[in-house]
Amino acid sequence: MKYFIANWKMNPILIDEAEDLLRDYPKSSNDKKIIIAPPFLYLEDLMDTNPDFEFSAQNCHWENQGAYTGEISSLMLKKMGVGYVILGHSERRSNFNETNEIIAKKLETVMENNLTPILLVGETNKDDDKEEIIKNQIESCISSSEKRSDIILAYEPAWAVGSRTFQDLDEISDASKLIRSLVPKNLNLKAVIYGGSVSTDNAKDILAIDNIDGAIVGGASLDSKKFNQIVSSI
Ligand code: PEP
Repeated sequence: MKYFIANWKMNPILIDEAEDLLRDYPKSSNDKKIIIAPPFLYLEDLMDTNPDFEFSAQNCHWENQGAYTGEISSLMLKKMGVGYVILGHSERRSNFNETNEIIAKKLETVMENNLTPILLVGETNKDDDKEEIIKNQIESCISSSEKRSDIILAYEPAWAVGSRTFQDLDEISDASKLIRSLVPKNLNLKAVIYGGSVSTDNAKDILAIDNIDGAIVGGASLDSKKFNQIVSSI
């Protein structure tokens, strides 16, 4: 099974544009799963009008409810019928000071609520020690006492996000192997995917890597033609 996560980030501006975008989106099939991560605001409407798609949130709070102005909990998402939550995105780590400790708390609640976390790990700069960073991120974010739960891991180097430069294929393969070796065996690792400037030009090569089960796509997922092309490149 190949997984394709469309991370729309804070786009588009209008719900009508979101509906238009989805109209021409690729559908899941026997061997491909398409998961769309729109802004919170559009989730409920899009889920109502597009029952054939699966949806993810881009973030959530670590508590189920309470005095946390402006936040959304994974319990709310669960009750709404959302299946997945992206956690640990580099934009949240850098713009909102999300530490591994915070991500660990979120991950625990997401799993308690039986949602599937899509946990993103990867180095910040190209010349960082990525093995050390990924090891630390996984060991700090996933506690060994976690109950049996599905999880998706994404190797997404921050320097490659939105930069039109992507990681070398061999490095992606090595990172994926490392991730697989580090995820606790009590978890049901559904997929290890790659993210960071996946495009119509590079998708075929990236998706052909042995240990890679799909892609998380940001910029190119806002163009249904490009996203269709990426999904059908394998
Ligand atoms: C992302 O933000 O998760 C992402 C993959 O972005 P982009 O494809 O634009 O690099």
